[in-house]
Amino acid sequence: MKKTVAFSKNATNVFFHILTHCNLKCRHCYINKKQHGKNTLPIETINAWLEVFASKNKEANVIFLGGEPTLHPDLPGAVNKAKSLGYSSITIDTNGYLFHDILSKVSPDVIDYFSFSLDGATRKTNDMIRGKGSFDTCIQGIKSAVLKGFSTSLIYTVSTINIHELDKIAPLLKDLKIDRFFIQVIGIRGKSAESRQGKLQVSRDDWLKIIPLSAQKIARLGIIVTYPKVFLSLEEPFECAGLVADNYFIFPNGRVYRCPLCEDYPLHSLVFKDNALANTPRINENDFFALNIPEGCVMNKLIQPDNLSYNPNGTCKYKIACCMLKEEIRKIQ
Ligand code: SF4
Ligand code: SF4
Repeated sequence: MKKTVAFSKNATNVFFHILTHCNLKCRHCYINKKQHGKNTLPIETINAWLEVFASKNKEANVIFLGGEPTLHPDLPGAVNKAKSLGYSSITIDTNGYLFHDILSKVSPDVIDYFSFSLDGATRKTNDMIRGKGSFDTCIQGIKSAVLKGFSTSLIYTVSTINIHELDKIAPLLKDLKIDRFFIQVIGIRGKSAESRQGKLQVSRDDWLKIIPLSAQKIARLGIIVTYPKVFLSLEEPFECAGLVADNYFIFPNGRVYRCPLCEDYPLHSLVFKDNALANTPRINENDFFALNIPEGCVMNKLIQPDNLSYNPNGTCKYKIACCMLKEEIRKIQ
C-alpha cells in the first residue's frame, strides 16, 4: 500500500544535531561547520533544549543526529532524558561505528530505531562515497544492534554514483533484518554545494524511472520503504512544511531551522538564547514559506534551480515538492 505521508502540526519532530564532529568524511556530507559550528553540546544544554520541544505538543519525536551522535559520550543520558520527558519516539542516526559502546548503554525498550546509513549495495560503491572500511563496519553495527533486540532502519542517499545499486540492496536488507528503508535524495548542501561534485543529483527521468520501482521491490520483502516525492504534477497540491508541519532542525551553535534547505545559510527563524527559543530578525526562512510560486518550493528555486523545467511559453512543466514530503510503501504482497 502506497501513501503520501501528510504533514501535521499535531506532532513536533525534533532533528537534534548534538555535535557536528564525525569520524567519516562522506563525499556528500551536508554538515556545514561554517554555519553550524564545531562544538559538542554539554548534556545540561541538550536536556534543557529537549524540555523546550517536549512541551510544544502532546506528541513529540526526536532523532539524535551529528556529525556522528554516538561520538557524544553523554548520548545515553540524552536518550534517557527524552524518555523521561515523554517523547513518543526516539531514534539515533548513526554511520554504524557505534562509539562509546552505545548498544550496551541504551535499551530496545527506549530506542525506537537505530538508523544506519549505507550508500551502496557493495563495499566498493559505499566505501567510495563514505570512506574505506565504512561498509563492513556499518554491516557489523547493524548485526550487533539486531542481536541486542533493537529495531533498525537503513538510509540510502541516492546520487548519480550509486543509483545503479539501489535495485541490488534488497537481499542485503532482508539478510540484515532491516525493519525500515529510507531512500533520500542528495541535497545540494554542505560539501555537495561547495563543489557541485560533477552533478551528484539524479535527473527527474532517472528518479521517476528507478526510485518508485525499486521501493516497491523492497517493500515486497515486508520492509517499510519511504522515499521523497520530489516532483509534483501541476495538478497535485503543493504544501510547504514550514507552514503546515512542526519540524525543528537544531544545531549545536543554537540555530534552529524549520526548513532543511535553508541550513547552508544564516536563515534560521529561531535561535536558543539562555536555553529559551527566540525569534531571529527578518529576513529569515519564514519570509520564504508563504511565497506562492508556480514552481512549488521557493528554496529549491533559489538554491538548486537546475531541477526545474519550463515550456517554451515560460510555464512550468512540473512542481518541486517540499523536501520533507514522503511516499511510504508497506504491506505489498
Ligand atoms: S557519517 Fe554523516 S556526518 Fe559523518 S561525514 Fe558522513 S554524512 Fe557527514
Ligand atoms: S523545502 Fe521548500 S517547501 Fe519545504 S519547508 Fe523548505 S521552503 Fe518550504
